[in-house]
Formats: sequence, C-alpha cells, structure tokens
Amino acid sequence: MTPKLDPVPTPPERSQSVQTSPTESSTLSIPKLRSDIRGRVIAPEDQDYDAARTVFLGGVDDRPAVIVRVADATDVATVIAVARETGLELAIRSGGHSSAGHSVCDGGIVLDLHDMKALDIDVDGRTAWAETGLTAVEYSTATAAHGLATGFGDTGSVGIGGITLGGGVGYLVRKHGLTIDDLLAAEVVTADGELLGVDAENHPDLFWAIRGGGGNFGVATRFKFRLHEVPSVVGGMLMLPATAEAIAGFIRAAEAAPEELSTIANVMPAPPMPFLPAEEHGKLIIMALMVYAGETEAGQRALAPFRALATPVADMLKPMPYPEIYPPEGEDYHPLAISRTMFVDRIDLPVAESIVAHLDASDAAMRVAQLRVLGGAMARVPSDATAFAHRDSRIMVNVATFYEGPDDHDRREAWVEDFVALLRQDDDGAYVNFLADEGEDRIRAAYPGSTWDRLAGIKARYDPDNVFRRNQNIPPATGA
Ligand SMILES: Cc1cc2nc3c(=O)[nH]c(=O)nc-3n(C[C@H](O)[C@H](O)[C@H](O)COP(=O)(O)OP(=O)(O)OC[C@H]3O[C@@H](n4cnc5c(N)ncnc54)[C@H](O)[C@@H]3O)c2cc1C
Repeated sequence: MTPKLDPVPTPPERSQSVQTSPTESSTLSIPKLRSDIRGRVIAPEDQDYDAARTVFLGGVDDRPAVIVRVADATDVATVIAVARETGLELAIRSGGHSSAGHSVCDGGIVLDLHDMKALDIDVDGRTAWAETGLTAVEYSTATAAHGLATGFGDTGSVGIGGITLGGGVGYLVRKHGLTIDDLLAAEVVTADGELLGVDAENHPDLFWAIRGGGGNFGVATRFKFRLHEVPSVVGGMLMLPATAEAIAGFIRAAEAAPEELSTIANVMPAPPMPFLPAEEHGKLIIMALMVYAGETEAGQRALAPFRALATPVADMLKPMPYPEIYPPEGEDYHPLAISRTMFVDRIDLPVAESIVAHLDASDAAMRVAQLRVLGGAMARVPSDATAFAHRDSRIMVNVATFYEGPDDHDRREAWVEDFVALLRQDDDGAYVNFLADEGEDRIRAAYPGSTWDRLAGIKARYDPDNVFRRNQNIPPATGA
C-alpha cells in the first residue's frame, strides 16, 4: 500500500546560493530557476505568460512573478524552497478552478501541476495512481476504457488536485461517497521539501488532514484512488419548468431515490441552447444533471418520478458511458460570477416558492440556485473520519449570479447575500471547495468544532511557517 518513492533532494542541496532566513530574503532569479527546474518556467516577458496566468474564474487579473510548470516532485520541492527563500507568496494550481482565485497570485510564484498527468491504472486491483495535473474528465475517460470510475464533481475541467483535497461531491456521491472516500494514499511534498508517502499507516494524521483540509499541508503530487465498476450509467440532462411544486417535488424524489442516483438540480433561467425553442429562453427551468450508476432498466425506473413532475422542456436522459456526463468545454469560458455555498435541511414548498421569487427578482443574465441532495454512502462515513465534517448535511445549496463588471458587482453580490439569508436554516456548515474569498468565519464553518483544532495542530507539525497560505487557510496552532 505504501507508495514507492523516488528520493527528493532536500531544497538546500539544490539551491546552495539562496539564503534561508526569512528576515534575509533572497531575490528571485529566473535564470537560476530555469537551470534548477526540469519543467517549464514562465516569466512575464514570455509569450504564453498571459495564458498561463489565466484561471477559470473571470475577473482575476493577478500577475505572478513567475509560473513554474513542474515536471516532478523534485521540481515541486525546488519551487517550495525558492518560495521560502525569497519570501514570495506561493500559489498551488492543479486545474485552476478555485472559486476564490487562489490558483494564482500577484507578484508571487505559481506552482502549476498542469504537466503532471501520469496515470497508472491497476485494472485487476481496482486502483489508480494519478498525478495531480489531471482533470476529472481526463482521469474519468481513461478509467472508463476499463469500465471503471472514481467520482469527482460535475465539471470535467476541474483538477483532481483541488477537488480531492477539499472533499469531492459529484455524480457518484450517494452511491460511492465523496472523492476522498476513495482516496487510498497520496504523495505529498511538505513545506520542508520532503516527499512523503501518506496513507492509513504512514503519516495517518496527514492522511486524515488532506481528506478535506484543502491545500494547507503540502503539495500533493500523486493520489491513489479506489476504482469502482461503472460500465455505464443512465443519466444526462433533464429540463423541467421551475414551478415551486416541481422544485419541491424534485427534492422529494431525489431524497426517496435509490442511492445509485445522484442529482444536481440547477434552478435558473433557460440559456439560449440551440435545442430549446426560442420561447423557452430566459424562462426559469430546473436544469437537472443526473447519474444513475447501475443497471439500465433500474435506472429508467429511478428516473421516472422526475420525468413525471411536469412535461419536460427537454429530456436528454439516456444510457451512456460515465464520462459522457462531462460535455466538451470552451477553454475561453471565464465567467464573472459571485457565488456562495451552504447546507440546508429541507426544500419544501415554501422554500421552493422563495427560491423562485428570488430568482425572478433579478435580471442578471445568469442566476442560479443549485440543489444537491446528499446522503447515501457519503453519510455513512463518521464525521470525524476525515477532515470533511459535514456527513450529516442533507442538501448542499450553491447560489450564484453573473455580473457584468465593477459597476454592477455590488448589487449582484447583495442579491446573492440576500439569497443566502433567505435560505439559511439550522445547518451553518460550508463545503470548503465552493467557498469564495469570504473570510475566516466561513473557513471555520467548513471545519467546525474539533475538526479545526485538529487541523491547526497538524498544520503546525507539517507547515509551521504557513508557507501554504494562499488557500482557505488554516493557520498553524500556536504552542502546538
Ligand atoms: C465550474 C466549477 C464546477 C465545480 N463543481 C464541483 C463539484 O461538482 N463538486 C465539487 O466537489 N467541487 C466542485 N467545484 C469546486 C472545486 O472542487 C474547487 O474549486 C477545487 O478547489 C478546484 O480544484 P482545481 O484543482 O481545479 O483548482 P485550483 O484552483 O488549481 O486549486 C484550488 C486550490 O486547491 C489547492 N490545490 C490544488 N491542487 C493542489 C495540489 N496538488 N496540492 C496541494 N494543494 C492543491 C490549492 O490550495 C489551490 O488554491 C467546482 C468548481 C467550479 C469552478
């Protein structure tokens, strides 16, 4: 189970000339970095600098001093050492989808795992070692060739690095749990440049922390995942008119459905999709993305109650290979979006009515309440078994709106905040991977009670100087 590790030179061996005292920071030398790194070093004068600093979220215009596309764990250790020696901020990037813009930084160093995409599938053993530059769709397409899958999220271009470290809530969540529930081991380069093999027996504290604690503890270079047999699924997109009755009915049906079925219901204005009649564009719909991971006939039976809620605006549910749930994405899509995440206990008719009313009250080009019924395998894991503590949460709600620019940002943000206040019930937790830049209280909501204290203690052990701080940060416990 313990991964075989290549020795990683400790940072001082590779960078003798740079000082290590935080009070005597050395200056960043791009030529030296270029000679020390096996991967690519991209500086502001390079042609692809602008493309390399672009992240998924629109409106992020940070200009890092350098972007290092690392080739291996040794490169990772070198970059961490340079960040420490120069005192520059260090951003870690896997798929670049951070909702808080954490995958890039202004004036600092971006450690980009994009080129680390090796995938080693053990078909008989039902496991895979995956480098963390892979995206969800790249991993899923390769494993589907063997009829196997590990669950990630709803979007193919999300990096397996970020989604796994935060938890991972996707189309297999009720059947197989969170992504971290299939994480068997990892390789992590820590703040002092050491490459650790981490699993239930080796560094179990770190293994607990990286299953939900985000990028606080080191740079994960490889993950070992459990693979499930998912030869095909029944699923895809179902669009229903978004009446309050249909929304409440959808949630009831999703809660009553077999665990093979996981659903994501986006209540939003119908986008101008070519297959929709023009008169539907802009009307509120439930755009549901659904996956039944099991046998086709049983899947059709499980989907029938949803189809019966109303005459569908579009019904694209069908048997298909699992990765087809990830449609092609435009590389130039960088939405200006404001989002918030929360958990709720119920979406009954009155709650559904308030969702419709609040969406109707905005004229933003895109506005959405995304409703994900949880439970199933995810809820059977004890809350303290990993750093993801929200096992009992029943429904995750993400609300979001597009804005056009600085002029309408504040009123769109106020609409989002009002939406959250309107929907708030008793569960005040938060899922770290959907947090925007919302301050310490919300990070603490992601790690309630003893989870926070335990994480802060582990942080003090593995990253006492908080080198990994450009994230939903858990500062090291003092006196630990
Ligand atoms: C369009 C969209 C759809 C999404 N859908 C889902 C979903 O269905 N389910 C779900 O659970 N989440 C979802 N998310 C949230 C997503 O899981 C997080 O934004 C996640 O952090 C993105 O991972 P990334 O590697 O792409 O992002 P990055 O921006 O590259 O990474 C985010 C952060 O994770 C840390 N990190 C990333 N890789 C590493 C690494 N190898 N080692 C150490 N730290 C690392 C860093 O702190 C970094 O700042 C979605 C996000 C977007 C934008």
